[in-house]
Amino acid sequence: MSITFFNTATKQKEAFTPLEDGKVKLYTCGPTVYDYAHIGNFRTFLFEDFLKRYLLLRGFEVTHIMNLTDVDDKTIDRANMEGQDLKLFTKKFTELFFQDSEQLNILPADEYPAATNHIDIMIDLIQLLLEKEYAYETEDGSIYFSIGSFGDYGKLARLNMGGQQQTDRVSSDDYSKDNPQDFALWKSWKENDGDIGWDSPWGKGRPGWHIECSAMSMHYLGRHFDIHCGGTDNIFPHHENEWAQSVAGTGSKFVNFWMHSEHLLVDGGKMSKSLGNYFRVDDLVKKGISPEAIRFSLLNGHYRSRLNFTLAKASDAKKTIARIKDFKERLEAHCENSELSNLDLPKEFELFMSALDDDLNIPEALAVFFEWLRKMNSMFDEGSISKNEAVSGLKFLEKFNSVFQIFSVSEDIPKEIMEMAEKRETARQEKNWDASDRIRYELSEKGWSVEDTPSGPKIKKL
Ligand code: AMP
Ligand code: ZN
Repeated sequence: MSITFFNTATKQKEAFTPLEDGKVKLYTCGPTVYDYAHIGNFRTFLFEDFLKRYLLLRGFEVTHIMNLTDVDDKTIDRANMEGQDLKLFTKKFTELFFQDSEQLNILPADEYPAATNHIDIMIDLIQLLLEKEYAYETEDGSIYFSIGSFGDYGKLARLNMGGQQQTDRVSSDDYSKDNPQDFALWKSWKENDGDIGWDSPWGKGRPGWHIECSAMSMHYLGRHFDIHCGGTDNIFPHHENEWAQSVAGTGSKFVNFWMHSEHLLVDGGKMSKSLGNYFRVDDLVKKGISPEAIRFSLLNGHYRSRLNFTLAKASDAKKTIARIKDFKERLEAHCENSELSNLDLPKEFELFMSALDDDLNIPEALAVFFEWLRKMNSMFDEGSISKNEAVSGLKFLEKFNSVFQIFSVSEDIPKEIMEMAEKRETARQEKNWDASDRIRYELSEKGWSVEDTPSGPKIKKL
C-alpha cells in the first residue's frame, strides 16, 4: 500500500506517512458559528470525514481536532446586531452544527475547542511572537504580525511578494489575496465590540481569527502534526497566516500536509438566498432528500474539483442508494445462515482501495464499485453466484459503507445500545467470549437482541 495526497504547500502529490507510525494527527478548521452551516460548508466537512474514515479503514489511529470559531469579526457583528450575548448567540449555531453533523453521520472529532475558551494560549503565542520580533504593537494596543519579517510568507498561497516589505496593515479577519498586509494578532477593544473583550498585557481586546487556529491546533496536536484541512477559501489569508505565526513562534515545522477541498456550486453558480438555491441540511431533508442522499451527493466527485449540486442530482443519489440497498438485500438473502467466514474480499476491493490511496480518487473508486455491482447482479440473474461470493461481497459492501455511510444499521437504535453492541463486537473479534456473552445478556435486559450475520451484527428490538 502506498498512499499519496496532494499537498497544497508543494502543489503536488506526495507519499503520505504519518510522523508517528500508525497514528495520524488531523486538524480541520471548523465552522464560524454566526449562522446556520450550509451544504457548501458540509461539502468540506464531509470531505474531511471521508478522509478520516479512509485513514481508519487503512488501519490508522486518527486524532482529530476541529475548532469552533466563536469569536471573530462575523460572530461579533452578528451577535451585536441581534443584541445578544456572544456565548448564547454562538451556542445556538454550535448546537445546530452538531445536529446536522450527526444527521450526516459525520464521525465526531476528539475535541471541539472553542476559541473563547483558549484566549490564554493565544496571548502566550502572541507574546512569543513579540519577543521574537515577528510582531509589533500599535498605539491603540493592537498587535500585528509583520509579514516582512518572515521570509517564507506567501509560500502556501503562492503569493507574488516581489521581495517587498509590507507596511500596510489590515485589521479585518478576511481580506483579499491581491494585497497581502500585516495582519492583526490581537485587536484592541473598540466601541462596536460591546461587551466582548478579554484582558491582556496590551489592554482589553480580542484575538484575530488566524491566531485561534495556530494556538489551538498546536495545543492539542503538538507543534508539528500530520494533516491540516479546510476549504480552498481558507488558503488565503487564514492558513497562510496560521502557518507563518506557528512557524515563526515555535521555530519548528508546523504541518506536513495541507489538504483543501474545492467549493460546492449549486445549479452551476454560487449559492444564493435571493436565487432560492441556498440550502441547509434541514432544507433538503424537508424536501424529502435523506441525509444519506445528501451525503452521497456531496461526496460524489473528486475533492479537488468543484462539485455542482442540483436537486435532480440529489434525487439521482436517492435512486443510487436504493439500488445499492437492493443489492445488499440480494446478497444477504443469498447467504442467509452463513457464518461470518474468513473469506477474502473480492479483488475489486483492492482496486477500490488503490483508487482511494491515490489522493482519495472517489470517482475512480466509485467506477470500480459500480462495475463490480453490475457484474454481481448479472451473476445473480444467471443464477451463477456462489454463497462464498455473496459473503465476500457483503464484506466489500461493509467496507464501502464504512467510508460512504449511505446505509446505516443504526436507524432508530439508541446510541447507548449501539455503543454496547460495538463493545460486544470488539470483544467477539478479540475472542473474549465471556465479555461478549455478558454484553449480549445486558442488551437483552434492555430489550434488544443482537444477531451475527455475514454483513456484521444486526440489532433488533425484542
Ligand atoms: P466557515 O463557517 O465560513 O468558517 O466555513 C467552514 C468551512 O466551510 C471552511 O473550511 C470553508 O472553507 C468551507 N466552505 C465555505 N463555503 C464553502 C463552499 N461553498 N464549498 C465548500 N466549502 C465551503
Ligand atoms: Zn482555522
